[in-house]
Amino acid sequence: MNTRSLFVLDTREVGRAPGARRDYRREIPAPAHLGLDMIGVPEGSPLDLTVRLESVTEGVLATGSVTGELSGECGRCLIRFTDELEVEFVELFAYRDSATEQTTDPDEVSRLQGDRLDLEPVVRDVTVLSLPLTPLCQPDCGGLCSECGERIDDLPDGHSHTKIDPRWAALTERFDTEAARTQGQPAGSSPTESQE
Ligand SMILES: [Zn+2]
Ligand SMILES: [Zn+2]
Repeated sequence: MNTRSLFVLDTREVGRAPGARRDYRREIPAPAHLGLDMIGVPEGSPLDLTVRLESVTEGVLATGSVTGELSGECGRCLIRFTDELEVEFVELFAYRDSATEQTTDPDEVSRLQGDRLDLEPVVRDVTVLSLPLTPLCQPDCGGLCSECGERIDDLPDGHSHTKIDPRWAALTERFDTEAARTQGQPAGSSPTESQE
């Protein structure tokens, strides 16, 4: 099936009497490249489009919403994650030869093509505008450890790569243990006086 045509509505079904309206609901397989490089709607996944068309003096006003699924790659830790798309739009499609058509650019106000209007560019615009340039798997994603490259959120708290010369490691360990025993302090802090 031609997916594109599912975004196209025939305004003859609405009529031209100002105030005339009609509601539509369609499930549309997502077209290719709906989104940004790092996050977008997977091609072919279902988009749920709800739209009301209303006849106004200058054209047809389309008010609607789109929901669907998002697949993204976290900009910090690089894992893939999913999210929900939920966007709304209000778009005027101007009648041919209307004052609106003659005083605006097609970039500013959409046009009816004959009796039809195409919602795909509108859905594309609101979808892309809603997406973050740096998508995150969760708002406080810790990113990757700069030493080992593992996800910080998958590592135990206090993960670090503090390097100790192996020749000192055994000494430091013993010192820490003794210090903890004699002073009642927790082991782990490396004594500065043992280094030269
Ligand atoms: Zn992340
Ligand atoms: Zn690490």
